[in-house]
Amino acid sequence: MKYSVPHKLRELSEIFEKNGFSLYLVGGAVRDYVLGLDNHDYDFTTDAEPLEVKKMFKKTIDTGIKHGTVTVLFKGGSYEITTFRTEGEYHDGRHPEKVSFVRNLDEDLKRRDFTINALAADLRTGTIIDQHDGLADIKNGVVRAIGIAEERFTEDALRMLRACRFSSKLGFEVEESTKMAISKLKENVKLVSSERIKDELFRLIDSPHPRMGLETMRETGLMDIILPELSALYKLEQGGFHKEDAYEHSILALERARDMKYPIEVKVSALLHDIGKKQTRREGETRYTFYGHEGVSERMTLGILERLKASNNEKKIILRLIREHMFSYTPEWTDGAVRRFINRVGINSLDRLYMLRDCDNAATTGDKPDNSHLEKELRTRINSELERNSALTLKDLKITGDDLMKLGIEKGPSIGKILNQLLEMVIDNPELNEKEKLSSIAREL
Ligand code: ATP
Ligand code: MG
Repeated sequence: MKYSVPHKLRELSEIFEKNGFSLYLVGGAVRDYVLGLDNHDYDFTTDAEPLEVKKMFKKTIDTGIKHGTVTVLFKGGSYEITTFRTEGEYHDGRHPEKVSFVRNLDEDLKRRDFTINALAADLRTGTIIDQHDGLADIKNGVVRAIGIAEERFTEDALRMLRACRFSSKLGFEVEESTKMAISKLKENVKLVSSERIKDELFRLIDSPHPRMGLETMRETGLMDIILPELSALYKLEQGGFHKEDAYEHSILALERARDMKYPIEVKVSALLHDIGKKQTRREGETRYTFYGHEGVSERMTLGILERLKASNNEKKIILRLIREHMFSYTPEWTDGAVRRFINRVGINSLDRLYMLRDCDNAATTGDKPDNSHLEKELRTRINSELERNSALTLKDLKITGDDLMKLGIEKGPSIGKILNQLLEMVIDNPELNEKEKLSSIAREL
């Protein structure tokens, strides 16, 4: 198999050649080319040292000179080029003590993580260089560490998470001895920064085969360390209309989100929406009950997202979805109740809450009563409230904090409290949303 070199890359490599150097495409882009997948994240490697690369081009950026990476701007393109290197000893289980530049590609390929990521394409000829049998592993669908897996994971614990993520991205099995090395060294994942763990985990969740990476994590015990709340659901029987256990339910919900191409916050919520079930399960008369599990799930998810240093926005959306995921509409709801629901969920989260409900329904494999007509009816009522421009949030109120202060109410928390009370009333009774009326109620309050 040959890499068919795009014209621009051939031009780029000719410059290297003219100066007596070679240029290779390496890593994920070659792997994904062989697999027929799109990957526009190109990494290049060369025997030229950074200063030599800089001499060949008019415009370059010192992206990571210390690690040998220079970005070359050439004919409208931008290319990240790293000098062949080896890595010295690793002392902290994450970063090499020092990197050294070398003149030969073999050394560079040996330091990479998996055989499937150690392919290089010679950009002069398109020849694919495969020193670690990566092509065979691609063909067989295997993620295998280069050399001795335990050594590679001891050097850099992040690679254990990457193994699971590539399994999920590509639908590959993690090879047996690579998996065993993860089981053995899983505790080392504590050396990895929260940001990197979160990044790998979210990418895994957002990939085409999330079950595979999650299962590898569970089987190796890695999940007990980075997401124990989820492994606790394994084999937790639910009974009732759930044939599946709570862990399987969570994965099925995520797979539904994957199938429907729902956004990442819905995927994360689908995976975590029931993690409170372990703590809330009670033996009822005819079946288990899980009263209040959505609140417990919400609190536990907050713990997870804080541990992973997720952004405030991610936290806000995901927590709200999980908190509200048990909503249960009946036609007796008053219009006020519909408006309160909108206010609680947030206008921008309504669609995503419906997506989560769809995942939850699809992931329930027993004989569950079909409430979809009720969900549709609620949706219709929500839409007509939105069309009617009903006051749903504080900014829809026809009175502001400033107005209240002019009425002589003291600046401070009482303003917010009164505004919220007024909003409650307006949600129940929209005719009250006039400045005059609100002023006189505020005076009484
Ligand atoms: P993708 O971009 O689809 O996630 P990728 O293989 O391009 O996959 P990158 O993180 O972009 O992954 O890394 C590029 C290449 O660098 C990898 O293919 C691998 O050869 C090497 N690499 C990256 N991270 C590590 C690591 N922690 N240990 C060893 N090699 C690594
Ligand atoms: Mg990449």
